[in-house]
Amino acid sequence: MNKFGFSISKGRQIDYESNDRRIASFIYDKEPSFRLCIECGGCSATCTTGNSTKFSLRELQILIKRGENEDVRQNIKKCMLCGKCILVCPRGVNTRNIILLAKLAFQKSEENAI
Ligand code: SF4
Ligand code: SF4
Repeated sequence: MNKFGFSISKGRQIDYESNDRRIASFIYDKEPSFRLCIECGGCSATCTTGNSTKFSLRELQILIKRGENEDVRQNIKKCMLCGKCILVCPRGVNTRNIILLAKLAFQKSEENAI
């Protein structure tokens, strides 16, 4: 923080074309409701894990779609699969299945199977 009470964030570029979007494709194929998310954040607001950590399902879904997978790979394990997020989603996104599929996709990508 500088003397003005704020600091400038570091520049950040997303190379969307060269990002790895295989995880997203895997989920789109098997759970079409992944496309319905409007990023409202309702799932994150009610999330059991998010109540005590910085875990945000909204953010993780956005990162998967961009192909920015590394943070997702690290954080997706924190989900307890309680399913509260499904109950509040206004778009009927099957969030729990998306999380399960993301975990499976990461496992398969480590085995070079997707
Ligand atoms: S509550 Fe549903 S629509 Fe809103 S961010 Fe979560 S998954 Fe997307
Ligand atoms: S299933 Fe996972 S993401 Fe959804 S509310 Fe529970 S802990 Fe949060």
